[in-house]
Amino acid sequence: MIDFNVPPFTGKELEYMQQAIKNKKICGDGEFTKKCSHWMEEKFQANHVLLTTSCTHALEMAAVLTQVKPGDEVILPSYTFVSTADAFVQRGATLVFVDIRPDTMNLDERLIEDAITDKTKVIVPVHYAGVGCAMDEIMEIAARHHLMVVEDAAQGVYAYYKGRALGTIGDFGCYSFHETKNYSMGEGGALVFQNNDFLERAEIIREKGTDRSKFFRGQVDKYRWMDYGSSYLPSDLNAAYLWAQLEMADTIRKDRLDSWNYYNEELRPLAEAGYIEQPFIPDYADHNAHMYYIKTKDLETRGRLIDFMRKHDILTVFHYVPLHSAPAGKKFGRFHGEDKYTTKESERLVRLPMYYHLKEEDREQVVKAIKEFYE
Ligand SMILES: *Cc1c(COP(=O)(O)O)cnc(C)c1O
Repeated sequence: MIDFNVPPFTGKELEYMQQAIKNKKICGDGEFTKKCSHWMEEKFQANHVLLTTSCTHALEMAAVLTQVKPGDEVILPSYTFVSTADAFVQRGATLVFVDIRPDTMNLDERLIEDAITDKTKVIVPVHYAGVGCAMDEIMEIAARHHLMVVEDAAQGVYAYYKGRALGTIGDFGCYSFHETKNYSMGEGGALVFQNNDFLERAEIIREKGTDRSKFFRGQVDKYRWMDYGSSYLPSDLNAAYLWAQLEMADTIRKDRLDSWNYYNEELRPLAEAGYIEQPFIPDYADHNAHMYYIKTKDLETRGRLIDFMRKHDILTVFHYVPLHSAPAGKKFGRFHGEDKYTTKESERLVRLPMYYHLKEEDREQVVKAIKEFYE
């Protein structure tokens, strides 16, 4: 059986987790949490990286920090994971879904401006498959209309747009370290931002509404309840697991890109013959091989392909059911403009096995089976 995903493991994880236990510090903000944050701040040229319990929670923190309130509108793609939307629904905001570009599956920047009303407060680009959205255009629109930008960079860790790390371009960036992502701590994430003005409130929200972070730095002599908050800081045990992977981030990235490039080369003849479509990587993007997908002719072909692959012991998967067509999406939002590509393209997309240490013989099997299907 060739799995669709295997959680990344480099070998040093257990040693670092034992180290955290020896440090007598397994709650949040211990040695490994700090190591991970500092590493990302340096590597991605980010002013602040706060490790969180998930990307969902990083998005929730970002939603609080943007100060969206009931009645405000948030522009986002419908083709995304539910968390992109949930975080803003929790603040009472109304979702305004905009169509995607069929080439990158990202929010179509050319359609954003038409969806802006006097209630719009935030734009949420999602860097699908670790391929950046057209950020120059999006930031320019946001500046012109005084909107904030929250990048859902769950899939975009260690990927770049015109040389800038995804997650560091908007007002906030949100990373995921879920076991299905490139770098993992089981469940986890990070909130990224540049503006120092957000630091104090972000730390308070993350620490149950208290100024405990300041207390630990010796900046206040007791800690108090300052504001609304929750428990968004992960255990140092999880951070220790992540640290083993960040230390080997280049190796993991290269390994995934090797698999990605292999799929892309080997499947090109099928694309040239018109059977499938392959991912499109714009010139500005330096992606992280988070995902390799192909698009079949239609929904029916995709179903047959997935069945065929399963019979060959290979797991391939599809996603997302567009949010605007789901019960909660209808309740909390509306689709602005025409759904030209969101539904149609989502029904054609299928993801191939992709993970750190995907064996050469396994990816050969995957390609062989797809070729057989189309014979
Ligand atoms: C994985 C993912 C999330 C959620 O990440 P968690 O860390 O599991 O909360 C959010 N948005 C997108 C686009 C994702 O792929």
